[in-house]
Amino acid sequence: MKQLIMCYLGEMALKGLNKSTFEAQLAKSIRRRIKNLGQFKVYKAQSTFYIEPEDEFSDVDGAFEKVKKIFGIAAVSKAVVTEKNFDKIAEIAPIYLEDTLHDARTFKVAAKRSDKSFPMGSLEISKEIGAAILRKFPHLKVDVHNPQVTVMVEIRDFGAYIHEAKQPGAGGMPVSSSGKGALMLSGGIDSPVAAYMMAKRGMSIMSVHFASPPYTSERARQKVITLCEKVVDYTGDMNLFIVPFTTVQEYIRDNGVPELFTILMRRSMMRITENLANKYGAGAIITGESLGQVASQTLSAITATNASVNMPIFRPVIGMDKTEITDIARKIDTFETSILPYEDCCTIFTPPHPKTKPSLEEVVEAEKSMGLEELFRLEESAAVEAEKLRINVQ
Ligand code: ATP
Ligand code: MG
Repeated sequence: MKQLIMCYLGEMALKGLNKSTFEAQLAKSIRRRIKNLGQFKVYKAQSTFYIEPEDEFSDVDGAFEKVKKIFGIAAVSKAVVTEKNFDKIAEIAPIYLEDTLHDARTFKVAAKRSDKSFPMGSLEISKEIGAAILRKFPHLKVDVHNPQVTVMVEIRDFGAYIHEAKQPGAGGMPVSSSGKGALMLSGGIDSPVAAYMMAKRGMSIMSVHFASPPYTSERARQKVITLCEKVVDYTGDMNLFIVPFTTVQEYIRDNGVPELFTILMRRSMMRITENLANKYGAGAIITGESLGQVASQTLSAITATNASVNMPIFRPVIGMDKTEITDIARKIDTFETSILPYEDCCTIFTPPHPKTKPSLEEVVEAEKSMGLEELFRLEESAAVEAEKLRINVQ
């Protein structure tokens, strides 16, 4: 019996114009996610991707779990394929689903014939396969409204596919179908979740992390790389830029208004991120900010940071509270890494009494008084250094 995986396409099927690009993206994501699980053939027909093992060593169950996480796939099923011959289907269906049918009390057959040259109609197939199953499992009862098991039979171009009810896929849109975003990735819980949320809407991601050695350690840097390695399961390959931020931070500490240190530093981070985003084709900045979570995430602080750049800033977790964000972090397996207790550059040099409601005017004034020319020069050279340190995470 030849088992394979069927991935049914979601929202993207509606996007007529870019359909072929989306599908190419999706095929790439699928291949990438299952590449360590054996040899598979991946191909598309009739709005469905088929993933077919090429030998018996390929891990179909493992691949099935992986593809459930790929954005752009609405539903998935594990199926057995036979030739398009009624007797063959009637023979195989009860054998393939033996264990499930054995344990059930009620079932129904739902047939779908997209190959209209098949001599029987959908209703007739359902009825006759139902009868064949009942002959083998006389304890079963047919329940068309609320069956414990639905046996699906799809008569398609390449064969007849038999499987249980479809399972939901990850939904969303395929990665890269909505442009690219530059994620500001700290080592915390929120920003990896922000990456996941935007990837769900089809953004590909590049990540920018600010490090301030020697105040931040090599372990903190390694932690961010590990987070990227986890997130790429959802986002696809990404570039990670680690910005050496020490000089800029020291400049702000030595020349800025102490109560505004955090906000001035965040404006610098935004400008450097926008600079890298422009150079690498990203059209938006993404952060893991959640309104009111900390002093730098009040409405006035956000107003002051937004004003430092022209790009739109996406904050997909802005309205979520920590438990909701944490639930997603656990689901995407970043939580345990995020809670490792290494220092972040944002927590060094912070003043004892930061202003929580700075006005944009006073922030802009404080920035000017630092000497904009020198500040921007340091920011530019930090961005250039970060480019040299680019890491491609797969
Ligand atoms: P997170 O859990 O994502 O670290 P947080 O609750 O610690 O967030 P902040 O430290 O105020 O909050 O950071 C808010 C956002 O700023 C982060 O979600 C991230 O997008 C960005 N950010 C913070 N620190 C860094 C950093 N070192 N490098 C890049 N981006 C950062
Ligand atoms: Mg943080």
